[in-house]
Amino acid sequence: MKRMLIFPLLLGLLALTGCNSDRTHASEESFFAMDTVMQFTVYGDDALLKDAQDVIADIEDKASVTNPDSELYAINRDGSGVLTGRAAELMEDTLSLCQRTDGALDLSIYPIVRAWGFTTGNYQVPEESTITDLLSHVDYNQVQYDVTTGIVTLPAGMEIDLGSTGKGFAGQQVAALLREKGVTSALLNLGGNVQTIGTKPDGSLWEIAIRDPKENVPMMVVSVNDQAVVTSGGYERYFEQDGQTYWHIMDPTTGHPADSGLRSVSIIGDDGLTCDGLSTSLFVMGLEKAAELWAQSDDFEAVFVTDTGEVYITEGLADHFALTEDYSDTPVNLIRR
Ligand code: ADP
Ligand code: MG
Repeated sequence: MKRMLIFPLLLGLLALTGCNSDRTHASEESFFAMDTVMQFTVYGDDALLKDAQDVIADIEDKASVTNPDSELYAINRDGSGVLTGRAAELMEDTLSLCQRTDGALDLSIYPIVRAWGFTTGNYQVPEESTITDLLSHVDYNQVQYDVTTGIVTLPAGMEIDLGSTGKGFAGQQVAALLREKGVTSALLNLGGNVQTIGTKPDGSLWEIAIRDPKENVPMMVVSVNDQAVVTSGGYERYFEQDGQTYWHIMDPTTGHPADSGLRSVSIIGDDGLTCDGLSTSLFVMGLEKAAELWAQSDDFEAVFVTDTGEVYITEGLADHFALTEDYSDTPVNLIRR
């Protein structure tokens, strides 16, 4: 059994030297938060890193599902409670993504995730009767959320989690703060959720590598400016039992790990939370439904890798996408509107 946390390799990082308040000075920090390793590179004053970490801590303090002092924990324990500040915003936006994806993203899947052991690392395949029982309480439509007061009320037996969107949201919130402080160049890696600000200091695009879901090597690179790149894959957290692989992305219709024919989904867009929530839910939907949702949308592009190693990219990425040298023979299919 393995528990793996893998984040994309970040290519082309230029560390330029300069004085500390200079916009070409790279301030860098690695730290553990939100159950993952975060790596921030901010071009500007070192003090900005502290501001960035304060934003992460604020979100985690309020929205952590495992910290008994968090607002979210109290809601799960008591069946109701209040979310404030950034946690309220995270809740509102996550709920609307649940609707947008028709429940492929469902914030009430948490008890199922726990039954499979993904919250603790005590992995197990639950009894089918247990899954059926827990699934009867999974339905984001039954979450009552009052956006004006922040009051959340859950039906008996339901528990919610904002983990599928939390890191994307956190990256977006840090980026907003840094932009406010005048930062024009930064690379924020929140455990595989990448958020960029502006371009590299030399004005060129950030090149973000996406790995081969089967092997931990870079398979392709997307070039972005001011956007988020978020990947969900079956390799991020999984266990093996009796020759079967079980991963942490759940299909809310079955209560089992999503088995839609996809191995990884990367979403590229302006809104980090949307990218994070869509990477999880398009993985659940499978290629055909995911492509339909993309065709009806104008706020993201996507890269899909299938079980058989085929690559599909949406047409808006065509000029910002390249395979790495080792994968140059891989056919790339273009998804058009
Ligand atoms: P990671 O957190 O590893 O980057 P994701 O962003 O894809 O991965 O989120 C996966 C997490 O979201 C899981 O660990 C689980 O807690 C939760 N989750 C799994 N399936 C779903 C789902 N269908 N809807 C909402 N949350 C989910
Ligand atoms: Mg996600």
